[in-house]
Amino acid sequence: MCGIIAYAGRNEATPILLDGLRSLEYRGYDSAGVAVLQNNGSIRIAKRAGRVDGLVASLHNADLRGTVGIGHTRWATHGEVNEVNAHPHASAAGDVTIVHNGIVENYVELRRELIDAGCEFRSETDSEVIAHLVAGYTGNGASLEEAIRRMSRRIRGAAAVVAASSREPQKLVGLRLGNAGGIVAGFADGANLLASDLPALLPHTSDVAYVENREIVVITADSVRFLDLDGRPVRKEPVAAGRTYEAAQKGTHPHFMAKEIAEQPDAVRGAMRRRVDFEAGSVHLPDIPFTAAEMRNLDRVLLVGMGSSLHAGMAGAHYIETLARLPTAVDNSSELRYRDPVLDEHTLVVSITQSGETADTLAAMEEAAAKGARLITLVEAEGTQATRLAEATVPIRAGQEIGVAATKTLMNTLVVLAELALHLAAARGTLPGESQRAAVEELARLPGLLGELLDLDGHYDRLVESIKDRDHLLYLGRGSMYPLAMEGALKMKEIAYIHAEGYAAGEMKHGVNALISDSMPTIALAPAGPLYEKMLTNVNEVKARGGQVIVFATEGDTTMPTVADDVVHLPRASDLTTPMLALLPMQILAYRTAVALGHDPDKPRNLAKTVTVE
Ligand code: GLU
Repeated sequence: MCGIIAYAGRNEATPILLDGLRSLEYRGYDSAGVAVLQNNGSIRIAKRAGRVDGLVASLHNADLRGTVGIGHTRWATHGEVNEVNAHPHASAAGDVTIVHNGIVENYVELRRELIDAGCEFRSETDSEVIAHLVAGYTGNGASLEEAIRRMSRRIRGAAAVVAASSREPQKLVGLRLGNAGGIVAGFADGANLLASDLPALLPHTSDVAYVENREIVVITADSVRFLDLDGRPVRKEPVAAGRTYEAAQKGTHPHFMAKEIAEQPDAVRGAMRRRVDFEAGSVHLPDIPFTAAEMRNLDRVLLVGMGSSLHAGMAGAHYIETLARLPTAVDNSSELRYRDPVLDEHTLVVSITQSGETADTLAAMEEAAAKGARLITLVEAEGTQATRLAEATVPIRAGQEIGVAATKTLMNTLVVLAELALHLAAARGTLPGESQRAAVEELARLPGLLGELLDLDGHYDRLVESIKDRDHLLYLGRGSMYPLAMEGALKMKEIAYIHAEGYAAGEMKHGVNALISDSMPTIALAPAGPLYEKMLTNVNEVKARGGQVIVFATEGDTTMPTVADDVVHLPRASDLTTPMLALLPMQILAYRTAVALGHDPDKPRNLAKTVTVE
């Protein structure tokens, strides 16, 4: 989740870029850098590991004069945090420079191809391939926008890119592919800008236009043009951005919840940063101080949380048991604290509380600590009480969540729990190297796949129509989809105020079947996998009793569409990331239902974001 800023105008670019970077620093502060097109036509880059202030201090004597330039604050995903890996990255001859937000999923093969063609790489980042690809095209006579267009066909994964070329020194070109974080164009007097988000533009203008997925934007001091990926012009008028802090934070989203759902492709990358080594194909959580011997010494794991965090724990138990082969249990913190549980130094207790202040979870942690269990906590808010009680804290790094209903914090918790399971598995030797590599490849695909699901947004209108006036809904799942079914039901209850239950599908015959009728729709989570056929049977059973069924199925499934009333297609993925992929459409469904019913999804009645009382 890097920050990007770009300026083409008549004033000196450097101070404007640096100010922009300061306001984007919340998006990443591993390193900062700027590139300016010098008046003599060459490109000059200054970059540094660490905060923007460090870059500013280092600039004293650097000659960075010019009126067109780009800047970046990095949140590293590929390659160490150091100056070489800081953006902007340049082509070998220095004639092209780029800043990038996202992951180039196929960078290993592109890098190999470019090295074979004679390119020399300086950094360990995935991003550098973009500079070399673009320079290859501009070197053959393509315009910068044409080169960006051609590059966009080569890279896989969601990305936001801005590029400059010394062959066309008045121009900057931006590209958005998928949802790796947005790009907003700002129309100012005698200047035009691009930025990752609105607050960076507001000092200059409130006339803005959002770059959509698969669009290119070309700016000079006097013009802003938009193109699609076929090079066709896209007509777009600037709109007036809200100037209040809240409006600026929400951007184009009507609610924080919508914004936070849309941020998830970006947020999950934060959870992987410096934990997932995409090159080595391994996962390591430096936040956990236990030695490999200590991890081998564990004989069970207990996850505790409340609400969505409890559901995350249930999904996490599935990960830990299957990957690290440790007996794993989950408990609701408010139950555990009064149960006098059997815990000792061979038990790893994992508490999950995004706020770090959930009263019941803190009490459960105190209980675990008093009994001598090993104790770690997964939180968004660092420095909170949970982090003081635990031996180690693993930040989930979703970014601030304002909507009361958990969305991106839960998504990131799932990612961190998958990482924890892989970390334990590596230490305990329960997962062969190639399975670890396959898991890392799945994680690398996750941001892009989540972005694709966001783009299906419009599909939900029909589903919302069919459920919004019902009093009851049933969510069904098996295996790792069972906790997701519970979460889907919780979301529907808390923001749309529709009574919904999440059930393990195998339970149906033990009571719930009695409720099936045409007035209670069922949402069945039935992705491809070993439990698919069991779910198909459940779906048929509900249909046979006159129930309406909406199925979440894997794309390419030709059976479910013939049985179910409606199908939401999930991308094909492994058991590791399918829960995360199923989560996003359920959030959208609940959000849209709440809005269709006239409720404020950001502030559901009777609830609060942080539950500091029992
Ligand atoms: N993958 C790029 C890097 O590591 C960009 C990181 C990001 O957008 O978070 O430098």
